[in-house]
Amino acid sequence: MTSSCNGTLFVVTGPSGAGKSTVISKYLTENKDVFFSVSATTRSQRIHEQNGVDYYFIKRSEFEKMLSEDKFLEHAEYVGNLYGTPSEPVFDAINKGHDVILQIEVTGALSVRKKCPDAVLIFIVPPSFSALELRLKGRGTEPDEIIRKRLEKAKTEYKAADLFDFIVVNSDVENGANELKTIIDAEKLKTKKRRNFIEV
Ligand code: 5GP
Repeated sequence: MTSSCNGTLFVVTGPSGAGKSTVISKYLTENKDVFFSVSATTRSQRIHEQNGVDYYFIKRSEFEKMLSEDKFLEHAEYVGNLYGTPSEPVFDAINKGHDVILQIEVTGALSVRKKCPDAVLIFIVPPSFSALELRLKGRGTEPDEIIRKRLEKAKTEYKAADLFDFIVVNSDVENGANELKTIIDAEKLKTKKRRNFIEV
C-alpha cells in the first residue's frame, strides 16, 4: 500500500450518532472515484437501508462461516451484533489505485491499523456529547435501552480518539464532508505518493 500507484485506505470511525454515514455519503456524492466498502452485519435491516448498499445483512451462521474462511479484513461485535469488512473488494480497489473508505467502529479501526500500517484513521465527532445524545434519540431507529448502550459505548470510544490521525467535527454535514475532503486531498500530496515528481 505504500507505492504511488496504489490507493489509500481511509478508516472512518466515531461513536454511533456522530453522523459518519451522512458525512461519508455527502463526500461520496461529490467524489465519485473513491470506493466505499460495504460491511457485512448480523444486525437487522432498518427501514431506509438497502441490502448490498448500506450493508450486506446476513445471518450469524453465515458471518461465522466467512470468519472461519478468513474473508474479513477486520470484524467486531457491537452492541450484540457482528460487523465485518469483506477484505477482497477493499484490496482489489486499492490495488487498482482507488482510495477506499471504511466506516467502522473503534476496535475494528485499530485492528486495521495493525494489518495496514499505512491506513489513515479518522475519528468523527459531533460538536458535543449532548449533541450526540440528541441525535441518537432524534433518529428514532432504536429503543431506549439500545440508545443507552450506544451512549455508554461512545464514552469508551472517545477514550481511543488519541490513537487516530485526524478528528473531523461534524457540526453540520457540509463542514464534516469538507473536513474529510481536506484530509483525503492532503494524503494525495504526501511525498510517498508524489515520488515520481522527484527526478534528480
Ligand atoms: P450501525 O448499527 O449503527 O449501522 O453500526 C454500529 C457501529 O458498527 C457503527 O459504529 C459502525 O461504524 C460500525 N460498523 C459498521 N460496519 C462495520 C464493520 O465492518 N466493522 C466494524 N468493526 N464496525 C462496523
